[in-house]
Amino acid sequence: MISFSNVSKEYPNGTHALKDVNLFIDKGEFVFVVGASGAGKSTLVKLITREEKPTSGKVMVNGYDLGALKRRQIPKFRRTVGMVFQDFRLIPNMNVYDNVAFALRVTNVSFRDIRRRVPYILGLVGLASKARSMPDQLSGGEQQRVALARALVNNPSLIIADEPTGNIDPELSFEIVDLLNEINRCGTTVIMVTHEHDLVAKFNRRVITLDSGVIASDRNDWRSSDES
Ligand code: ADP
Ligand code: ADP
Repeated sequence: MISFSNVSKEYPNGTHALKDVNLFIDKGEFVFVVGASGAGKSTLVKLITREEKPTSGKVMVNGYDLGALKRRQIPKFRRTVGMVFQDFRLIPNMNVYDNVAFALRVTNVSFRDIRRRVPYILGLVGLASKARSMPDQLSGGEQQRVALARALVNNPSLIIADEPTGNIDPELSFEIVDLLNEINRCGTTVIMVTHEHDLVAKFNRRVITLDSGVIASDRNDWRSSDES
């Protein structure tokens, strides 16, 4: 599903953001990626989405060798990955329905399929009644659920959520992670970047800790070893 083989990333200014990272994430896993600011979390995400290329090493995602990916293959690859961002990135002058439908309209999905698929996904994230609302009429938690719906609507095999709860009240943050958990239970691989340890502690999942560009720890037993 995702593999990093001896991956290093050095930015043009000489910053070594990732150093010889080896990583394997299997299909259907749920993984938290944690680490201090500057640890390399965003760089890891950008290498997975092919926004950045490694300086050395090999990145495989959803069967694509990203180093060998042709420019024209990038859109097709990106459709296998759903992205959720800290700042939601909704289109402000489109209602909830259209924000989600837009993600399908840019592909060649039929009108009929869009009319079926969008309500289904909005129901999944608990926003069926908000289809006609504009983003600025929604709470942060609701806006993030729209963003999640948009990420899901293409049926990606992988969801990457980069600090998805960073702009959300703590009580609602739990709901977002819970929803990601549900999505994962249906078979979608989920990678969530966060620095909220309370949230990580509530879900007994694999936790990869980055520190200065290296994987400092990678474990499944986070809760059992950290909670008394
Ligand atoms: P995190 O997401 O954990 O905060 P980043 O991956 O953003 O970490 O950054 C890792 C390191 O790479 C930091 O030292 C950061 O300053 C540096 N960095 C990130 N992006 C760039 C860039 N485009 N150019 C130069 N340095 C960068
Ligand atoms: P149909 O059986 O006529 O396709 P459904 O009500 O089962 O109608 O599906 C409506 C829409 O929801 C379809 O676009 C379908 O792709 C989607 N859908 C249904 N079930 C799932 C599911 N478990 N996961 C993802 N999408 C689904």
